[in-house]
Amino acid sequence: MDYELSEEHKLIRDTARRIAREKVAPRAAEIDVTEEYPEDTFQVYKEAGLLGLAIPAAYNGAGAGTLGLALAVEEVSKYCNASGLMLLLSSLSTQPIVIGGTEDQKHEIVGRVATGEIKGAFCLTEPSAGSDAANIRTRAVRDGDDYIINGEKSYISGGTVADYVVCFARTAQNGAGAISSFIVDSKSPGFSVARSDRKMGVRGLPTAHIVFDNVRVPPDRLIGHVEGKGFKSAMLGLNSLRPVVGSRGLGLAEGCLAYALDFARKRETFGSPLTDRQAIQFMFADMAIQIEAARHLVYHAAWMVDQGKYTREYAHHLSMAKAYATEMANKVASDALQILGAQGYMMDHPIERQYRDARQLMIVEGTSQVQRMVIARSLIEEDLVYN
Ligand SMILES: Cc1cc2nc3c(=O)[nH]c(=O)nc-3n(C[C@H](O)[C@H](O)[C@H](O)COP(=O)(O)OP(=O)(O)OC[C@H]3O[C@@H](n4cnc5c(N)ncnc54)[C@H](O)[C@@H]3O)c2cc1C
Repeated sequence: MDYELSEEHKLIRDTARRIAREKVAPRAAEIDVTEEYPEDTFQVYKEAGLLGLAIPAAYNGAGAGTLGLALAVEEVSKYCNASGLMLLLSSLSTQPIVIGGTEDQKHEIVGRVATGEIKGAFCLTEPSAGSDAANIRTRAVRDGDDYIINGEKSYISGGTVADYVVCFARTAQNGAGAISSFIVDSKSPGFSVARSDRKMGVRGLPTAHIVFDNVRVPPDRLIGHVEGKGFKSAMLGLNSLRPVVGSRGLGLAEGCLAYALDFARKRETFGSPLTDRQAIQFMFADMAIQIEAARHLVYHAAWMVDQGKYTREYAHHLSMAKAYATEMANKVASDALQILGAQGYMMDHPIERQYRDARQLMIVEGTSQVQRMVIARSLIEEDLVYN
């Protein structure tokens, strides 16, 4: 067992750390207030080659794997969770194509996302189907060789700026096996962003409600040129990125701990710094324990994905990392805010924003309850975990 990061992974971590401090941190509060997509941050990532970290080298990516992406997302998320999500999005919007696409689709779409030439979004959730994603209603109906897509997608991260979306739609009547996935150009007639959502947190990465109104899609845009594989590729894609959502939580918690510790050293009550109080010291100790526990779960889960272990039989490991790290982030952000007292509640300090941002992590890409359903299924039905 070797717990050391490779030299390549250390380089990625250090590069992302520098960019996070110099470029991401100074913009974090501003994009939270303006709710504008930070194109300048995207350009910084593009120039640094961070957009294709987990994308295979065959498609212009860095081939640094899920662990490479998780490390970069962690560094950025110490200061700005929206900017962490931006990095993750380049993989979320390409994984279904990497997993199930044709070689042409991989070169054309994945290859251009990796270099930052185009941006994508992942369109699964609908007004009537979130956790229960197998019950989506969006339909793709054959018209000659083409498909005509009708439906609505909710809360789509990056939906306002996407050049294309991966749209999951029903090509037959019932069940998960009736869902297919399509690459849809956002300039297609009938494709529209109905609104940009007003959110509690992660406000620097807009989330959109997208309408497909008789959107005509040529047959070569059906991912893998096979119907009925969409749900499986969506689930595998989400599984493979659970560690990276976990790393958004890990980074956020580390950022909160560092900020609160610096604050507590300087803040005096009853004649001495807060760091002299055992009640406060123990809060910091608990934060550190939880952060290190999450780090092990997240890095191990990322390593598993890089070994190809992200199918159903390994899913509980990935779900544990996502659930624990994101819930831990909420606890640490809350404790950090408590240590700052009233100042923590004010927008003058980043903890207020991090606290709001943390809340999103327990909902997206499979809620905490959905992760527990996956873990419990492995324990109860498959007896896989501890036998
Ligand atoms: C900021 C943000 C960005 C997002 N970005 C994207 C994106 O880019 N693409 C995309 O497709 N989606 C995106 N989503 C949607 C997200 O994936 C869904 O919100 C999530 O899957 C949960 O679905 P829901 O909100 O419909 O909740 P529901 O499925 O309605 O669940 C409501 C509550 O009930 C619980 N619950 C549901 N079923 C069960 C059950 N069987 N047992 C126990 N508890 C249950 C859930 O855990 C939750 O707490 C985003 C959401 C947010 C908030």
